[in-house]
Amino acid sequence: MYQSQMLINGVQVSSLSGKVEIIRNPANQEPVAEVTVGSRQDACLALEAARRAFPIWSLTSRQERAKILHAAADLVRHRAEQIARLLTLEQGKPLKNAKMEVLSSADVLDFYAEEGKRDFGEWISSSHSRSIVLRQPVGVAALITPWNFPVDLLAWKVGPCLAAGCTFVAKPPSLAPLAATEFVRAVSDAGLPAGAANVVHGAGGEVGAELVENPISRKIAFTGETETGRWIMAHAAAHIKRVSLELGGQSPFIVCADADVKAAAAAAAQRAFSNMGQICISVNRIYVAEEVAEPFIEALVKRAERFKIGDGLQPDVDLGPMFSGAQREKTREHVADALEKGAALLSGGQEPEGEDYEKGYFFRPTVLGEADHSMRVMREETFGPVAPIMKFKTLEEAIHLANDTEYGLAAYVFTNDLKTALCAAEGLEAGGIGINVNNVVDLQAPFGGWKESGLGRELGHYGLEAYLETKHIRLGM
Ligand code: NDP
Repeated sequence: MYQSQMLINGVQVSSLSGKVEIIRNPANQEPVAEVTVGSRQDACLALEAARRAFPIWSLTSRQERAKILHAAADLVRHRAEQIARLLTLEQGKPLKNAKMEVLSSADVLDFYAEEGKRDFGEWISSSHSRSIVLRQPVGVAALITPWNFPVDLLAWKVGPCLAAGCTFVAKPPSLAPLAATEFVRAVSDAGLPAGAANVVHGAGGEVGAELVENPISRKIAFTGETETGRWIMAHAAAHIKRVSLELGGQSPFIVCADADVKAAAAAAAQRAFSNMGQICISVNRIYVAEEVAEPFIEALVKRAERFKIGDGLQPDVDLGPMFSGAQREKTREHVADALEKGAALLSGGQEPEGEDYEKGYFFRPTVLGEADHSMRVMREETFGPVAPIMKFKTLEEAIHLANDTEYGLAAYVFTNDLKTALCAAEGLEAGGIGINVNNVVDLQAPFGGWKESGLGRELGHYGLEAYLETKHIRLGM
């Protein structure tokens, strides 16, 4: 069986307690790997290693840091097959998607290798003085990530963190730590000083909490549930730490009367069901103009029934299992709640039948009609493959419904009218608005949430700023 250890001070290590846990494949519950499980003490050792490495890495020139980050990207690409296979085995996603995730994480490292060189500072002249404004690395960062995109979401943090000159301790999700650990190992092997990149496994409430509470970390970059983010923000306050929070979402998808209905249905199906709906910017609620509701729903149901479901290691599979039994149970509960409150089941609603599906956490893509805001699927983050649909009469009504949530991560609008598109984009309360696209992620542009979906931005030059402090040097003339 595959063995996964932690990475502390450049060395692969077991935990002080020697504790291990078994990781199981969500497609069949077979054991996949034995993982070292750390504790608060292991987290402290990793933080101390990162603190010792900080003066070395932060004083390494930007050009040299860029070279090492490019080498890290190459190494991740070189090991992509192996890392992707681990990702499918622990998380369930189809191998082709796992590979895309690993390769895109290498692109993130390349991007920040160059972005790190472009942090120029400022020069300001006053009558009796000159001001130099410097940007310097914030210090040791704690990088805490979830299981749905364990490699990519970690790369979004590792890239800017290292480019800025910070060192880090990463805490991958307890139930899917394998690929993330291999990713950091590849980055470390590319020539980082020992201790610049560390990984500690273990429970969020213990290892994660130590990384947040210990005064050595000066910056917490977190992706995960809003509740966990709230806890982290409160506890980071004890030492006034910098925090970036990428939290939950409940993303609306508006289909206007003048939209290309087939394109909208294809886009909605892909973003509602890929990764089994376990995406923070997944389509969670669909609002469709009454005039085009019938052809849109028909096209969406057709799309939902076309996906091939199965073990992610099979080459032709579109959707793997859900990540865990708990995740599938929550999805079932949300569907049952909607049906009780009057929704119509248009497709899916249960696990697929057959021997191949008996042991895994499979679930069919589910389309619900006649949805309304009394239903949990329309208000909470299901994090499952469910697309509930509600009809609207006017754009104002659609925007009002879309904003009726405490979340604000992404929102989508399909229309062929520029004025409608801009009115909707200006009125929607979310950090990312997709117009005639079903994805608001672009490596060069800011990503993050409004309201309870988060704080701060990742990606683009915004991602780098999150790891930099500002210093004003005033020179008397
Ligand atoms: P969690 O918040 O449960 O966990 C995320 C990470 O935080 C895990 O590594 C977890 O460890 C750790 N953790 C848990 N408790 C603490 C704590 N008290 N202190 C420090 N760390 C802690 O999220 P999930 O893993 O369930 O991920 C799903 C969530 O992530 C969804 O809500 C989704 O919307 C959100 N997400 C947001 C994205 C965004 O960019 N906005 C992108 C992707 C996902 P452990 O695994 O041991 O519990």
